[in-house]
Amino acid sequence: MNKKFISLHHRQAIVATKHQKDSLLATVFSETLHWEFLPTPMIDTDQLGTFSGEIPRNLSPLEAAKAKIALLPNNTNATIFIANEGTFTAHPQIPFITADIELIYVYDSLNNWEFHTYHIDTEHSAFEKQFTQTAEALQIAEENAFPQQAVIVSIKKNGLIQKVWKGLQTTADLLEALRTVEQFDATCEKIISADLRAMYNPTRQTVLRRTAEKLLQELQTFCPQCETPAFLPNVTEKGLPCEWCGNPTYLVAKEISNCKSCGYTITKTHTHKANPMYCMHCNP
Ligand SMILES: [Zn+2]
Ligand SMILES: [Zn+2]
Repeated sequence: MNKKFISLHHRQAIVATKHQKDSLLATVFSETLHWEFLPTPMIDTDQLGTFSGEIPRNLSPLEAAKAKIALLPNNTNATIFIANEGTFTAHPQIPFITADIELIYVYDSLNNWEFHTYHIDTEHSAFEKQFTQTAEALQIAEENAFPQQAVIVSIKKNGLIQKVWKGLQTTADLLEALRTVEQFDATCEKIISADLRAMYNPTRQTVLRRTAEKLLQELQTFCPQCETPAFLPNVTEKGLPCEWCGNPTYLVAKEISNCKSCGYTITKTHTHKANPMYCMHCNP
């Protein structure tokens, strides 16, 4: 008999962040799973890489999330450890648009169990533009929802960042940064971009909340045998029969959920038929 999973309900949780993501995640997980979020001690997750590029991120998003959790002290009462990593990159299915890909990773120390989920969203406020004049920078900022979304101003020379002003949220702060920028000569690249850190970026907060809600749903599907959460289809088989001729198509015919803890497996076979537009015979 396999060991039963200790319930995720009523746990103390901690978020490995320096960007105030705990209150946002608390709104998603407190009510349903009754997680009590402990205050995050001072940790410097920036050493693992920054959006603004002064510190490159050499780890994959999943590795970076795990490394953030490793920065937390061992003496908290938390049994749930959470980290998030956002990436702004080409959309995996629609390469010509930028997507915000958010990862949330959870480690449960009571069960020695880990899980992560990705959410891909086309809503984002990422931009990066070069400018020469202060007025131009102000206009770019305005076109990009400043001051609701904070901006970053930076100076680059030969591709290397010389100076950076982050978290600019007011016109006064932006102007002050731009006054210093004016003193740099034309051999420098002057750049204005979105501050994508969660606390400075309402759009990212929205996407992060969607990611957390997806994770919450996944955590509420359980293996019928050992009660391990996130019992989700992890294998698919193609071959859904065509509605007209009955030949197999490339559409998914079976979804298999396979419990990684106890091996319990459920196969869900689709009973509907494929639209002939997906059939090699009827619609070549
Ligand atoms: Zn199981
Ligand atoms: Zn057919």
